[in-house]
Amino acid sequence: MYPNPKPSLRFKTAFESLVATILSAQCTDERVNIVTKNLFRAANTPQKILALGEKKLMRYVKSTGFYRAKTKSVLGAAKIIVEKYGGKVPASLEEMQKLPGVGRKTASVVLAQAFHIPAFPVDRHVFRVANRLGLARAKTPDDTCFQLRKTIPEKYWIPFHLQLVFHGRETCRPNPKCNLCPLLTYCTEGQRRKKHGFSPFQAEKTKKTQNLTD
Ligand code: SF4
Repeated sequence: MYPNPKPSLRFKTAFESLVATILSAQCTDERVNIVTKNLFRAANTPQKILALGEKKLMRYVKSTGFYRAKTKSVLGAAKIIVEKYGGKVPASLEEMQKLPGVGRKTASVVLAQAFHIPAFPVDRHVFRVANRLGLARAKTPDDTCFQLRKTIPEKYWIPFHLQLVFHGRETCRPNPKCNLCPLLTYCTEGQRRKKHGFSPFQAEKTKKTQNLTD
């Protein structure tokens, strides 16, 4: 369904990937790509971001939402990358998570997408789709990540996390389109919903349950 999946966020370097991923929290990738196109033209290295300063950076990222916190994170990360890592984003999950605004998911995205180091970022889409399909049975993204890393061979981690994201955006949405889904035959949640005739009651019930974890 999603052959040769490519990241939707646009970037050319690991630092650009890091900034774009920080900005993508609670924001669409389309919006982030519009913002970073302008931002990276003005400043695409940690040194240039620091030179830009807080006020100007805030103006660039404002439309991504939560812009004060995101500005702080980007500036804080740029400062540490310059002072501690010689201007280069560290290619390590542990080291990256020490940067402000960078949690396990953000670090995994950058590791997988910019460094091509096997990692399994679990965002809300991966969390939802993997658990519905029955590939994981977990209550948190971290547990989902742990289970998927055990189940899925490492060489598939990078493309497969993107495929789950795309499926979550297009078909397996919070209110899923199971009757149109090519994975219905193989899907635990899809089969449960089919048994109940995809009834509005079941759909609503599922929607409420999924919203709690979305
Ligand atoms: Fe999601 Fe339904 Fe498809 Fe399963 S069958 S993956 S729940 S859309």
